[in-house]
Amino acid sequence: MSENIIPDISLRVAELYCLAERHFLKRFPRPAIKLDLRGETAGQAWTEKNLLRLNSQLLKENRDHYLKHTLSHEIAHLVAHQLFGRRIKPHGQEWQFIMEEVFNLPANRTHSYDTSRARSVQRPYLYQCRCPERLIPLTSIRHNRSRKGAVYLCTSCKAPLKFVRKEQPEIIQQNL
Ligand SMILES: [Zn+2]
Ligand SMILES: [Zn+2]
Repeated sequence: MSENIIPDISLRVAELYCLAERHFLKRFPRPAIKLDLRGETAGQAWTEKNLLRLNSQLLKENRDHYLKHTLSHEIAHLVAHQLFGRRIKPHGQEWQFIMEEVFNLPANRTHSYDTSRARSVQRPYLYQCRCPERLIPLTSIRHNRSRKGAVYLCTSCKAPLKFVRKEQPEIIQQNL
């Protein structure tokens, strides 16, 4: 796990806003950023709140592509909203213009990351067996059953699983 994700995000966000401000000769308020998305959604732009929600798992696994494309995709939504208000289509010509002409990137609507590991974050309860350095993620359903006495065994070492900790989402919050 890498700690320099947050500075990487801040740098890229600064770079993109710099491009937008140079192009439109206008100051844009910086968004609040939360790294709290899970599962297969790569990013979300909440235009009214000026909030970016990012998926730290997909960011870690696809760092370069995520910083270049996904972050730009979402920031283009925020910038388009600041410029044109709420009546534009989400991926309409205003958004496409920012992607292509301002950020100099292809205006792709969706991502194509491998989300197999991101899905495993839906099993946030980490258990230990006797296998060295192994943590086994369980769903909340299994975790609750285990709390009530159900015993789950490791499929490799056959030891009963012991609860270690719950994985916490990392959340960073920036001021507007
Ligand atoms: Zn979009
Ligand atoms: Zn084991």
